[in-house]
Amino acid sequence: MTPALVDIGLNLAHDSFDHDRDDVVAHAVAAGVTRMVITGSTLESTRAAIELVRSNPGRYRATAGIHPHHAREFADTHAPELRELLLLPEVGAAGECGLDYFRNFSSHEDQERVFRLQLQLAADTGKPVFLHQRDGHDAFVAILRDYLPRLAGGVAHCFTGDERELRDCLDLGLSIGITGWICDERRGQHLRDLVRRIPLDRLMIETDAPYLLPRDLHPKPAHRRNEPKFLPHILRTIAACRGEPPAAVAAATTANAVRFFGFPADAA
Ligand SMILES: [Zn+2]
Repeated sequence: MTPALVDIGLNLAHDSFDHDRDDVVAHAVAAGVTRMVITGSTLESTRAAIELVRSNPGRYRATAGIHPHHAREFADTHAPELRELLLLPEVGAAGECGLDYFRNFSSHEDQERVFRLQLQLAADTGKPVFLHQRDGHDAFVAILRDYLPRLAGGVAHCFTGDERELRDCLDLGLSIGITGWICDERRGQHLRDLVRRIPLDRLMIETDAPYLLPRDLHPKPAHRRNEPKFLPHILRTIAACRGEPPAAVAAATTANAVRFFGFPADAA
Protein backbone atom coordinates (compact mmCIF):
# COMPACT_ATOMS: atom_id res chain seq x y z
CA MET A 1 0.00 0.00 0.00
CA THR A 2 1.28 3.48 -0.88
CA PRO A 3 1.80 5.68 2.19
CA ALA A 4 -0.33 8.81 2.56
CA LEU A 5 0.73 11.73 0.37
CA VAL A 6 1.13 15.46 1.00
CA ASP A 7 0.20 17.92 -1.77
CA ILE A 8 2.56 20.84 -1.01
CA GLY A 9 0.99 23.22 -3.56
CA LEU A 10 -2.77 23.47 -3.71
CA ASN A 11 -4.67 26.71 -4.40
CA LEU A 12 -7.68 25.48 -2.45
CA ALA A 13 -8.95 29.00 -1.79
CA HIS A 14 -9.33 29.49 -5.58
CA ASP A 15 -12.88 30.34 -6.65
CA SER A 16 -13.05 27.36 -9.02
CA PHE A 17 -13.43 25.25 -5.85
CA ASP A 18 -16.14 27.42 -4.30
CA HIS A 19 -19.03 25.19 -5.35
CA ASP A 20 -17.57 21.81 -4.32
CA ARG A 21 -14.55 22.37 -2.05
CA ASP A 22 -15.59 19.72 0.48
CA ASP A 23 -16.01 17.12 -2.27
CA VAL A 24 -12.62 17.98 -3.77
CA VAL A 25 -10.98 17.38 -0.39
CA ALA A 26 -12.97 14.19 0.26
CA HIS A 27 -11.92 12.77 -3.12
CA ALA A 28 -8.29 13.67 -2.43
CA VAL A 29 -8.35 11.98 0.97
CA ALA A 30 -9.99 8.89 -0.56
CA ALA A 31 -7.10 8.82 -3.08
CA GLY A 32 -4.57 8.87 -0.23
CA VAL A 33 -3.74 12.59 -0.26
CA THR A 34 -4.38 13.14 3.43
CA ARG A 35 -2.48 16.39 3.95
CA MET A 36 -2.35 19.56 1.87
CA VAL A 37 -0.51 22.86 1.91
CA ILE A 38 -2.84 25.65 0.81
CA THR A 39 -1.05 28.33 -1.17
CA GLY A 40 -1.45 32.00 -0.29
CA SER A 41 -0.70 34.33 -3.19
CA THR A 42 -2.17 37.63 -1.92
CA LEU A 43 -3.08 38.90 1.54
CA GLU A 44 -6.68 37.97 0.81
CA SER A 45 -5.99 34.41 -0.37
CA THR A 46 -3.57 33.95 2.55
CA ARG A 47 -6.37 34.85 4.98
CA ALA A 48 -8.70 32.43 3.18
CA ALA A 49 -6.03 29.69 3.35
CA ILE A 50 -5.60 30.25 7.10
CA GLU A 51 -9.38 29.97 7.60
CA LEU A 52 -9.34 26.64 5.78
CA VAL A 53 -6.48 25.39 8.00
CA ARG A 54 -8.57 26.28 11.06
CA SER A 55 -11.36 24.04 9.77
CA ASN A 56 -9.05 21.01 10.02
CA PRO A 57 -5.57 21.72 11.42
CA GLY A 58 -4.36 18.13 11.08
CA ARG A 59 -5.19 18.13 7.38
CA TYR A 60 -3.84 21.51 6.26
CA ARG A 61 -1.05 24.03 6.48
CA ALA A 62 -1.04 27.40 4.73
CA THR A 63 1.62 29.52 3.08
CA ALA A 64 1.46 33.28 3.64
CA GLY A 65 2.74 35.49 0.88
CA ILE A 66 2.49 37.52 -2.28
CA HIS A 67 2.91 35.87 -5.69
CA PRO A 68 5.17 37.91 -8.02
CA HIS A 69 2.15 38.48 -10.29
CA HIS A 70 0.61 40.52 -7.46
CA ALA A 71 3.78 42.35 -6.37
CA ARG A 72 2.66 45.69 -7.78
CA GLU A 73 -0.44 45.68 -5.53
CA PHE A 74 1.68 45.16 -2.43
CA ALA A 75 2.90 48.35 -0.75
CA ASP A 76 5.68 48.26 1.82
CA THR A 77 3.10 49.55 4.32
CA HIS A 78 1.38 46.13 4.08
CA ALA A 79 4.45 44.41 5.52
CA PRO A 80 3.32 44.46 9.18
CA GLU A 81 0.10 42.70 8.22
CA LEU A 82 1.97 39.98 6.34
CA ARG A 83 4.37 39.60 9.26
CA GLU A 84 1.44 38.98 11.62
CA LEU A 85 0.02 36.32 9.29
CA LEU A 86 3.44 34.66 9.03
CA LEU A 87 3.65 34.34 12.79
CA LEU A 88 0.39 32.35 13.00
CA PRO A 89 0.76 28.65 13.84
CA GLU A 90 -1.39 27.68 10.82
CA VAL A 91 1.30 29.03 8.47
CA GLY A 92 4.02 26.58 7.47
CA ALA A 93 6.00 28.74 5.05
CA ALA A 94 6.40 32.21 3.57
CA GLY A 95 5.23 32.52 -0.02
CA GLU A 96 4.54 31.86 -2.61
CA CYS A 97 7.17 34.44 -3.37
CA GLY A 98 9.80 34.91 -6.04
CA LEU A 99 10.11 36.16 -9.60
CA ASP A 100 8.02 35.58 -12.71
CA TYR A 101 9.68 37.21 -15.72
CA PHE A 102 7.60 35.04 -18.06
CA ARG A 103 4.28 36.79 -17.58
CA ASN A 104 5.59 40.06 -16.12
CA PHE A 105 2.23 41.00 -14.59
CA SER A 106 4.29 43.19 -12.22
CA SER A 107 7.42 45.15 -13.11
CA HIS A 108 10.77 43.53 -12.32
CA GLU A 109 11.38 46.30 -9.85
CA ASP A 110 8.17 45.56 -7.92
CA GLN A 111 8.79 41.81 -8.07
CA GLU A 112 12.30 42.14 -6.68
CA ARG A 113 11.19 44.57 -3.96
CA VAL A 114 8.39 42.30 -2.75
CA PHE A 115 10.57 39.18 -3.01
CA ARG A 116 13.27 40.75 -0.83
CA LEU A 117 10.69 41.99 1.64
CA GLN A 118 9.24 38.48 2.02
CA LEU A 119 12.65 36.86 2.41
CA GLN A 120 13.37 39.34 5.20
CA LEU A 121 10.03 38.56 6.88
CA ALA A 122 10.69 34.82 6.54
CA ALA A 123 14.07 35.26 8.20
CA ASP A 124 12.51 37.38 10.97
CA THR A 125 9.70 34.94 11.67
CA GLY A 126 11.68 31.71 11.30
CA LYS A 127 9.46 30.29 8.53
CA PRO A 128 10.94 28.51 5.49
CA VAL A 129 10.15 29.90 2.03
CA PHE A 130 7.89 28.55 -0.72
CA LEU A 131 9.49 29.85 -3.91
CA HIS A 132 8.17 30.58 -7.39
CA GLN A 133 10.53 31.29 -10.28
CA ARG A 134 9.95 31.48 -14.01
CA ASP A 135 12.36 32.95 -16.56
CA GLY A 136 14.16 34.90 -13.84
CA HIS A 137 16.62 32.34 -12.56
CA ASP A 138 19.80 34.40 -12.32
CA ALA A 139 18.15 37.36 -10.59
CA PHE A 140 16.29 34.91 -8.33
CA VAL A 141 19.50 33.19 -7.23
CA ALA A 142 21.32 36.48 -6.72
CA ILE A 143 18.58 37.79 -4.41
CA LEU A 144 18.11 34.51 -2.56
CA ARG A 145 21.83 34.24 -1.78
CA ASP A 146 21.65 37.42 0.32
CA TYR A 147 19.09 35.88 2.67
CA LEU A 148 19.74 32.13 2.65
CA PRO A 149 22.08 31.97 5.64
CA ARG A 150 19.26 33.40 7.77
CA LEU A 151 16.41 31.32 6.32
CA ALA A 152 14.91 28.16 7.81
CA GLY A 153 15.05 26.44 4.41
CA GLY A 154 13.26 26.79 1.09
CA VAL A 155 11.49 24.82 -1.59
CA ALA A 156 11.59 25.64 -5.31
CA HIS A 157 7.89 25.02 -5.95
CA CYS A 158 6.81 23.76 -9.39
CA PHE A 159 10.38 23.38 -10.58
CA THR A 160 10.43 23.31 -14.40
CA GLY A 161 13.95 24.57 -15.09
CA ASP A 162 16.94 23.06 -16.83
CA GLU A 163 19.98 21.20 -15.54
CA ARG A 164 21.93 24.31 -14.56
CA GLU A 165 18.96 25.74 -12.67
CA LEU A 166 18.47 22.48 -10.81
CA ARG A 167 22.14 22.36 -9.87
CA ASP A 168 21.98 25.94 -8.57
CA CYS A 169 18.87 25.19 -6.48
CA LEU A 170 20.43 22.07 -4.99
CA ASP A 171 23.70 23.91 -4.30
CA LEU A 172 21.69 26.57 -2.47
CA GLY A 173 20.26 23.83 -0.25
CA LEU A 174 16.70 24.10 -1.56
CA SER A 175 14.19 21.31 -1.71
CA ILE A 176 12.46 20.77 -5.06
CA GLY A 177 8.70 20.57 -5.71
CA ILE A 178 7.60 18.64 -8.80
CA THR A 179 4.12 19.06 -10.31
CA GLY A 180 2.23 17.35 -13.12
CA TRP A 181 4.37 19.38 -15.53
CA ILE A 182 6.47 16.19 -15.61
CA CYS A 183 3.46 14.37 -17.11
CA ASP A 184 3.55 16.59 -20.21
CA GLU A 185 5.32 14.73 -23.00
CA ARG A 186 6.09 17.98 -24.82
CA ARG A 187 7.31 20.63 -22.40
CA GLY A 188 8.02 18.28 -19.46
CA GLN A 189 10.36 15.88 -21.23
CA HIS A 190 13.57 17.32 -19.77
CA LEU A 191 12.18 16.98 -16.25
CA ARG A 192 11.89 13.22 -16.66
CA ASP A 193 15.68 12.94 -16.74
CA LEU A 194 16.38 15.73 -14.27
CA VAL A 195 14.08 14.35 -11.57
CA ARG A 196 16.50 11.46 -11.06
CA ARG A 197 19.14 13.92 -9.86
CA ILE A 198 17.08 15.23 -6.97
CA PRO A 199 18.16 13.56 -3.73
CA LEU A 200 15.17 11.76 -2.23
CA ASP A 201 15.44 13.75 0.98
CA ARG A 202 14.96 17.01 -1.00
CA LEU A 203 12.00 15.98 -3.15
CA MET A 204 8.37 17.03 -2.61
CA ILE A 205 5.30 16.63 -4.81
CA GLU A 206 2.41 18.93 -5.65
CA THR A 207 -0.51 19.43 -8.02
CA ASP A 208 -0.67 23.28 -8.12
CA ALA A 209 -4.42 22.68 -8.58
CA PRO A 210 -6.62 24.05 -10.08
CA TYR A 211 -3.76 24.75 -12.52
CA LEU A 212 -1.52 22.28 -14.37
CA LEU A 213 -3.85 19.37 -15.01
CA PRO A 214 -1.52 16.45 -15.88
CA ARG A 215 -1.63 16.18 -19.66
CA ASP A 216 -1.61 12.41 -19.82
CA LEU A 217 -4.64 11.73 -17.62
CA HIS A 218 -7.13 9.32 -19.22
CA PRO A 219 -9.94 10.02 -19.24
CA LYS A 220 -9.52 13.77 -18.90
CA PRO A 221 -11.95 15.46 -16.52
CA ALA A 222 -14.54 17.35 -18.55
CA HIS A 223 -13.95 20.66 -16.78
CA ARG A 224 -10.13 20.51 -17.15
CA ARG A 225 -9.69 21.57 -13.56
CA ASN A 226 -6.78 20.00 -11.72
CA GLU A 227 -7.49 18.51 -8.30
CA PRO A 228 -5.39 17.14 -5.42
CA LYS A 229 -6.81 13.66 -6.06
CA PHE A 230 -4.50 13.47 -9.11
CA LEU A 231 -1.37 13.63 -6.95
CA PRO A 232 -0.91 9.80 -6.94
CA HIS A 233 -0.74 9.96 -10.75
CA ILE A 234 2.11 12.50 -10.51
CA LEU A 235 3.81 10.37 -7.85
CA ARG A 236 3.73 7.28 -10.10
CA THR A 237 5.22 9.24 -13.01
CA ILE A 238 8.05 10.57 -10.82
CA ALA A 239 8.74 7.12 -9.37
CA ALA A 240 8.86 5.57 -12.85
CA CYS A 241 11.29 8.26 -14.06
CA ARG A 242 13.53 7.65 -11.04
CA GLY A 243 13.29 3.87 -11.29
CA GLU A 244 12.14 3.64 -7.68
CA PRO A 245 9.07 2.01 -6.09
CA PRO A 246 6.18 4.51 -5.72
CA ALA A 247 5.86 3.56 -2.05
CA ALA A 248 9.46 4.62 -1.37
CA VAL A 249 8.98 7.97 -3.13
CA ALA A 250 5.67 8.46 -1.30
CA ALA A 251 7.20 7.77 2.12
CA ALA A 252 10.15 10.09 1.53
CA THR A 253 8.21 12.99 0.03
CA THR A 254 5.63 12.80 2.81
CA ALA A 255 8.30 12.80 5.51
CA ASN A 256 10.03 15.75 3.82
CA ALA A 257 6.80 17.77 3.59
CA VAL A 258 5.68 17.01 7.15
CA ARG A 259 9.04 18.21 8.45
CA PHE A 260 9.33 21.24 6.16
CA PHE A 261 5.82 22.64 6.72
CA GLY A 262 5.57 21.59 10.36
CA PHE A 263 2.53 19.33 10.13
CA PRO A 264 1.63 17.61 13.40
CA ALA A 265 3.50 14.30 13.03
CA ASP A 266 0.65 12.00 14.09
CA ALA A 267 -2.31 13.59 12.28
CA ALA A 268 -3.58 12.52 8.84
ZN1 LIG B 1 3.93 29.19 -8.51
